[in-house]
Amino acid sequence: MQNNALEKSDFLDSDAVDDQYESLIAAAKIMLVDDEPINTDVLQTYLTGEGYSNFVSTSDSTQAISMMQAEKPDVVLLDLMMPEVSGFDVLQTMRANRSLKHIPVVILTSSDDADTKLRALHLGAMDFLAKPVDASELALRLRNTLAAKAYQHQMVNYDQLTGLAKLDVFIDNTYAVLDALRAEGAMGAALHIHLDNLKTVNNSMGTELGNRFIQLYSRKLESCVRSTNVIRDTFGTDITTTLARTSGDKFSIFLGHLDNPQQAAVLARRIVIDTNEPFNLDGQQIYPSTKIGISVFPDDARDPQQLMNNAETAMAHAKDHGGSEHYAFYSGSMNEESTRILSIENGLHKAIENNELKVTYQPKVDLITGDIIGAEALIRWISRDIGFVSPEEFIPISERTGQIIPIGAWILEQACNQAALWQKQFSIDFKLAVNVSIRQIHDSRMDLTVAKVLEKTGFPASSLTLELTENMVMENAESNIELLHNLKKIGVRLSIDDFGTGYSSLSYLQRLPLDELKIDRSFIEEVQSAENKSPIVRAMVSMAHDLGMTVVAEGIETDVQLNHMKLLQCELYQGYLCSKPVVAKAFTELLQQNYSASQ
Ligand code: C2E
Ligand code: MG
Ligand code: MG
Repeated sequence: MQNNALEKSDFLDSDAVDDQYESLIAAAKIMLVDDEPINTDVLQTYLTGEGYSNFVSTSDSTQAISMMQAEKPDVVLLDLMMPEVSGFDVLQTMRANRSLKHIPVVILTSSDDADTKLRALHLGAMDFLAKPVDASELALRLRNTLAAKAYQHQMVNYDQLTGLAKLDVFIDNTYAVLDALRAEGAMGAALHIHLDNLKTVNNSMGTELGNRFIQLYSRKLESCVRSTNVIRDTFGTDITTTLARTSGDKFSIFLGHLDNPQQAAVLARRIVIDTNEPFNLDGQQIYPSTKIGISVFPDDARDPQQLMNNAETAMAHAKDHGGSEHYAFYSGSMNEESTRILSIENGLHKAIENNELKVTYQPKVDLITGDIIGAEALIRWISRDIGFVSPEEFIPISERTGQIIPIGAWILEQACNQAALWQKQFSIDFKLAVNVSIRQIHDSRMDLTVAKVLEKTGFPASSLTLELTENMVMENAESNIELLHNLKKIGVRLSIDDFGTGYSSLSYLQRLPLDELKIDRSFIEEVQSAENKSPIVRAMVSMAHDLGMTVVAEGIETDVQLNHMKLLQCELYQGYLCSKPVVAKAFTELLQQNYSASQ
C-alpha cells in the first residue's frame, strides 16, 4: 500500500483539490434554521443546484438544538431574528454543548448592524450572509466553511507527521467496534506498540531524523495492518483494524472480529519481523526496536481505556522479561505485580523520613583465625503500609526510579558512623563493606558523596569496601573502568559481589581496579560433603588470587563448607554459620564475645 500520510494532511494543496471539494459537498449534511419556511426552500433549491443533497431543516427554533443532536450536521445555516428562541440563543446553547460546539455556523442576517455581527462572532459564528441571500455567494461561503471544517478535523484528529489517527479517534473507533463485537458476541484485541529506541535516535541523530524514523516506522506498521491479508490468508476471516499513533513513540492497533487471540499474536509477530529490517537514515542503518503488549476483549477488559491500559502493562512486561519474544499477552497477575511495584515506589519515597529503614550487619570472618574482622551492611525495610519488603525486591525498583541515590547515601552514612564507633570501642581496624548499585556509580556526585561521608564520620577510606555485583560491573564494563578508577582515588577498596552468577569477561576483570571477589552463595551451597571437588570454586579462588584479589566465600552454613574453603585458601567468609545479619546492638555483642574470647 502506498503511504498517503503527507497527502492526507496537505490535501488542500494537492492536485486533487477539486475532487476533494466534490466529495466534501456530496457528503455534507446541511442544516437550515429559519422561521420563514419559504427562505429555507429557496436556499435548499440553490444548494441542490450546487451538488448538495443532504438537508435537514426547521422553522421552529425551539426544536433546533434537539434536531442538531439527532442529526449531527456538518454545517448550520442559522437565521438570527426568530421568535421565542433567537439565533443568538441557539448559538449560545451550541457553544455550551460538547457535541455541538465544533459544528460551524453561518449566520443569515438582514441586519447590517456591526454590534449584532460582533455579538454573533463572539458566540462562535463562523461567517455571515446578508439576506436576501445571493446564490453564488452562498455556495462559495458554504464550500469554504466545509473545507475549513475538514481541515480542522484533520488537524485535530490526525497526526501531522504520520497521517495516522490520534488517541481520541482511536478510542472513539474502538468504542464503536466494541459495541458491534458485544452485539455479535465476537472477540477483539488491543495491541500497544512501543518504538523502543526512538529516544536514542532523537538524542543521537537529532529530531529531524527522529521524525523520519517515525514516518518510516509507521509506514511499516500501516503495511502490516492494512495488509491484514496476512491474517485473512492465514485464518480466512474478516478482521477489522484500527491503527493510531497514540503518543510520540507509542502506537495502538485494535483488531475486531477475531476467532481466537492467537490471531493478534500473528500480527504482533509480523510487526516484529517486518520492523526488524534496518531503516536508512542519512546513510546510517538504524534498526527499530519494537515491544508489543496485547490485551484481549472481552476476557481481559470490556472498555477501550482498560484494554489499552492492560496492553500497555503487557508491553512493559515484554520489555522487562522479554527474551527473544518481543510481545506479551496481558494476564491478571501483571496487574497485581504492577500494583505492588507502584506501592513499593510510593512507600520508598517516605521510607527514610518515616524511619522505616534499618541497617543490619553480617560478620565478615577470617577463615584461618575465626575472628570477625568486619561486617557487610545490609539494608532492611519494614514499610508501614506493606510490611517487610526484601532488598532483593525493592533495590532493583529503587535503582530504576533513582531513589537508590538518597537511600544509598543514607545507608553509607549510617554504616560508616557505626563502624567508626566499633573501631574506637574495640581498637581494631574494623572493615566495613557496603553494597552500591550501578546507578550510584553513574551518579556524577558519587565520589563526592563517599568522600563527604568519610570526612563526616571519621571512618578511614582504606577500611571501607564498596561491593558491586558482577552483572552491573560487566554491563558497560568499558565505561565503568574510568568511574571505578575515580572511586579508587578516594582510597576505598572495591569488591565484585555474587561472582559466578553473571558473565565476566576475563580481560575486563584484569582491567577493572578490583580488590576483592565474593563467590556467590549458589556455588558454596553445592559443597555438601568433604569429597566434593568443586572444580569451579577452586578455579575461581585461584584466578582471583592470580589477579591479586582477596576471596570471600558467601553463605557458609556448615562446617564442611567452612573447611573446604579453608583448604582452597580462601581468606574470608560470611554466612549463617557465624551469624545472620543483625542490628548494631546485637552485632556489638558478637564483637564483644569475639574479642574477649581471643584476648
Ligand atoms: P548480597 O550483597 O550478596 O548480600 C548477601 C545476601 O545473602 C544477604 O541477603 C544475606 O542476608 C544473605 N546471606 C548471607 N549469609 C547467608 C547464608 O549463610 N545463607 C543464606 N541463605 N543467605 C545468606 P539480603 O540481606 O536479603 O540482601 C540481598 C541482596 O540485596 C544483597 O546481596 C545485595 O545485593 C542487596 N542489598 C542489600 N542491602 C543493600 C544496600 O544497602 N544497597 C544495595 N545497593 N544493595 C543492597
Ligand atoms: Mg553484598
Ligand atoms: Mg552477594
